[in-house]
Amino acid sequence: NARKSNHHYQIYDRLLDFYTIERLHLVNSLKSAFTENQLVLYYQPKLDLRASKITSVEALVRWLHPVNGLIPPDTFIPIAEQTGQMNALTKWVIEEAANQYTKWQKDDINLSIAINISAEDLRNDELITFLLALKNAKKLPDEAIALEVTENAVLSDPKLAIKLLARLQKSGFRISIDDYGTGYSSLEQLKILPVDELKIDKSFVQNLMMDKDDQTIVDSTISLAHNMNLSVVAEGVEDLETLAWLQARHCQYAQGYYVSRPLPAEKLTSWLPSFEG
Ligand code: C2E
Ligand code: CA
Ligand code: CA
Ligand code: CA
Repeated sequence: NARKSNHHYQIYDRLLDFYTIERLHLVNSLKSAFTENQLVLYYQPKLDLRASKITSVEALVRWLHPVNGLIPPDTFIPIAEQTGQMNALTKWVIEEAANQYTKWQKDDINLSIAINISAEDLRNDELITFLLALKNAKKLPDEAIALEVTENAVLSDPKLAIKLLARLQKSGFRISIDDYGTGYSSLEQLKILPVDELKIDKSFVQNLMMDKDDQTIVDSTISLAHNMNLSVVAEGVEDLETLAWLQARHCQYAQGYYVSRPLPAEKLTSWLPSFEG
């Protein structure tokens, strides 16, 4: 028995080494991702179920690595956070999204862009200062940029985070609570958070048609949002039945592979007309 667990330990140890080396490799090359223009934003539409129109998109970052190919954010965002590169990453995302917003406006395409903000970004007022300066410099209207923040991102220093979010909201940025329902927040916290929108986490939505509990949770979250005068988005909508179910319950927005996967800007622009009229 002891031999067996020792054997397992060795396998685990070797796996660990592999991941450590792989991680070190990524840590070192993440720095050049910025300088070598290897980061790229994909955009996933949010469908307005009332108007049957796309009025906003979410910016989702990818790393186009010269050797490893397209690296998803779940792989490198934790590394950026642990190595003090998150602020730089968020600033890059914001600037890129602001430029894209302006480009779309010139082409008569009206799309708000939602950006994901991490816990790191709410530990000091650097990001807020950056956002406010950018909004002024580029003369962005309030609807240009929205911010998505998870309940957990607020937890490390709730007082400061709430203060910063309140300043942003006052300056015209819409605030969404991302992954709603999976965090540690209470309804009490929801009451004091500066928030305009709830995004129901995809874990409740993906199997909605097959899971009565999920239906109960989603249904009551939609009601909660309505009663608190918040808009509500369901993410992870993967089929028509789910979309129809949400529409029947007056969920305002749907996002998910059924509507569209996240796409590079030009691909999104050429896909959009198929949703008009
Ligand atoms: P998130 O903000 O919850 O974004 C939703 C994720 O679900 C995205 O994965 C999206 O591609 C995926 N998704 C959308 N619709 C569906 C669907 O119908 N089914 C399924 N199975 N998945 C769907 P992605 O792009 O890999 O991003 C993962 C996470 O990485 C994001 O989760 C967000 O937390 C983080 N992230 C992405 N971009 C950024 C960024 O620019 N800054 C920060 N701080 N975090 C980011
Ligand atoms: Ca998000
Ligand atoms: Ca989410
Ligand atoms: Ca997430």
